[in-house]
Amino acid sequence: MNIILLGAPGAGKGTQASRLKRKHHFVHLATGDVLRLEVSRNTEIGKRVKSVMERGLLVSDDLILEMIEQQVQQAASRIAFDGYPRNISQAESLDKLMSAHDRRIDKVILIDVGESELIERICGRFTCSQCLTGYHTQFKPTKVDGVCDVCGSTDFSKRSDDDVETIKSRLEIFRRDTETVLPYYDQKGLLYKVEGRSNIDEVTDQIEKVLGIV
Ligand code: AMP
Repeated sequence: MNIILLGAPGAGKGTQASRLKRKHHFVHLATGDVLRLEVSRNTEIGKRVKSVMERGLLVSDDLILEMIEQQVQQAASRIAFDGYPRNISQAESLDKLMSAHDRRIDKVILIDVGESELIERICGRFTCSQCLTGYHTQFKPTKVDGVCDVCGSTDFSKRSDDDVETIKSRLEIFRRDTETVLPYYDQKGLLYKVEGRSNIDEVTDQIEKVLGIV
């Protein structure tokens, strides 16, 4: 089973996908994470996409498709796509890519959260620089102030595109481009919506029910 987690920036796609990875052995394929790794390693791709990402704009469809293709080829088990597709052209390319590898998208889950809450969520999030566990100042703080619950590191970072102005542009792109993929999947009978304002465990429960893997 291969799935797509759709939702605006801050809706909780990454959080839920990492739970699906841990509990149900999905490969978590997050295009944003792959790109951030390229930027942090200062690779040729990283140099090309850095300023685009910092402005909250979309990287070219071709480049993303190339990256996705490698990952799909390597993924032995079920895949949870996070951050891809982000427009109709990417959705169509993904369908072709999946069928070229005798795979398909089985379900698409929209994690639905209102816009004002999204901005609050994104502004408060931070990540352990060592093990990459995600936290939030208000909704998911570390148990001991300044110490990662998982690996004990005291080194944390914030995404450079998580400032209010960039978030607004990312939300606008979501409304303009990414929301257009909802009818695309709805017409195929693949679209499911979960209430993303619930707490993290409740959202996971809803997703597991949709996937029939409770
Ligand atoms: P994310 O972590 O999914 O919020 O993505 C962070 C940034 O990476 C986005 O704002 C885009 O600049 C870029 N990006 C991630 N996924 C895609 C995609 N599917 N298409 C184009 N750009 C992307």
